[in-house]
Amino acid sequence: MDNSVKNRSSLELWFVTGSQCLYGEETLKQVADNSKEIAEGLNASDYIPVKIVFKCIGESPESIREVCSLANNTEACIGLVIWCHTFSPAKMWIGGLSILSKPFAHLHTQFNRDLPWGEIDMDYMNLHQSAHGDREFGFMCSRMRLERKVIVGHWQDEEVQQRLGNWARAAKGWHALQGANVCRIGDNMREVAVTEGDKVAAESRFGYSVNGYGVGELASFVNDVRDEEVDELCAIYQSEYTLEPSLLKGGSRHESVRDAARIELGLRNFLKDKGAIAFTTTFEDLVGLKQLPGIAVQRLMGDGYGFGAEGDWKTAALVYMMKVMTEDLHGGTSFMEDYTYHLHPSGNKVLGSHMLEVCPSIAETKPSLEVHPLGIGGKEDPARLVFDVSAGDAVNATIVDLGNRFRMIVNEVEIVLPENPMPKLPVARAVWKAKPDFKTSAASWIYSGGSHHPVLSKAATSEMLQDFADIAGIEMVLIDGEASVAGVRKDLRVNEVYYHMNRGSSFAG
Ligand code: MN
Repeated sequence: MDNSVKNRSSLELWFVTGSQCLYGEETLKQVADNSKEIAEGLNASDYIPVKIVFKCIGESPESIREVCSLANNTEACIGLVIWCHTFSPAKMWIGGLSILSKPFAHLHTQFNRDLPWGEIDMDYMNLHQSAHGDREFGFMCSRMRLERKVIVGHWQDEEVQQRLGNWARAAKGWHALQGANVCRIGDNMREVAVTEGDKVAAESRFGYSVNGYGVGELASFVNDVRDEEVDELCAIYQSEYTLEPSLLKGGSRHESVRDAARIELGLRNFLKDKGAIAFTTTFEDLVGLKQLPGIAVQRLMGDGYGFGAEGDWKTAALVYMMKVMTEDLHGGTSFMEDYTYHLHPSGNKVLGSHMLEVCPSIAETKPSLEVHPLGIGGKEDPARLVFDVSAGDAVNATIVDLGNRFRMIVNEVEIVLPENPMPKLPVARAVWKAKPDFKTSAASWIYSGGSHHPVLSKAATSEMLQDFADIAGIEMVLIDGEASVAGVRKDLRVNEVYYHMNRGSSFAG
């Protein structure tokens, strides 16, 4: 992307081990050596997307407070992984945990996997105490009402590393949102409800700022683009996508492709100028632009920008966050819309798409660049990339503003290839089967108030999103293979009370 994106290759998780001075120097040295070995082992795991750095032993209130304060003030630190090798009296943790502003995971592991049945003595017992040390620590986290992820199992266990990796992705996504800028170009599609929301609440809750820009300012960036740059980008289009002859250089409709390329270059420069990581457009406000940005939006999403159509800034920020979360994983992430259904008795399916703006990161095949009329917006025919989306497991996620809080809704789905070609459909499209089944999924989503603008990701999982929701302190409704409408409705009722009461019972207020 560009200079708006923080350098993420240097991100770290700090490994902090709980203990106490009671055991003497020699034991503490052993605790440190073992901790380093665990940190190095986790570091070598492919599941964990950031560096794990053993930082210190928390053996006193002072040392714990110091490392928490340092974590808060270190930009590269996205969170803490805490484990108690020995007993670590948890009153010592109150001061540090009270000021810690970064997320943390509680890794409930043990240095040695197996009990040395024939050899075990009291020295061994005094060193390997995480079984009860971590419970003392857990009590304090619960007593302080602190949100954290508890991961249980031996640190060399693949599933443990995977779960820690999922949480690390959530922490990474969270980190990327802090101080981030979302540009709302134009305002909201008139009268639409779910794309609206409280921007002040969103900034307090998620850390990103949403600011409006007149489309005229974008238009001036587009007008400033030089013809040679347009030539170069058109050549890239021709090499990366399939184009019919009339759209090629010298063709009768090539000018539409040039207009689209100019919009892409202008939009890129505009976002760079604003230091933005995500943006929205609206077809109702395009003064000064020849086309609704189509291929421009698609390619910017492909480069990692977040996007939401019709002013949908919550979705734009979520697209960006989910792209950061999964940037090293196979599979892509896109803005999406539940568009049309296939309600055949043999299996109900959803056709997802949008007017233009589907990210090519989820494309099955080489996209074709096409220019077709758009029924709304009153502008010239926009260029867009058309493709099918590859089959496989995916999630649809959305965040809505309920007035007193935000709710995330996640539905696990299976993307399938279209049963038949759709040669007359001039937009990129995904076909999916929702879990546990279409009726349960749609009813649960609708009862939850889920948006018609989900983020479709083939790389993110519901566990990563649950971890993100927990870090952000928001509600998450999961519609997975086990979900039932009755269960979801019950959760919604319980959550309504819980999130109302939670503010009052939270230790930190
Ligand atoms: Mn839409």
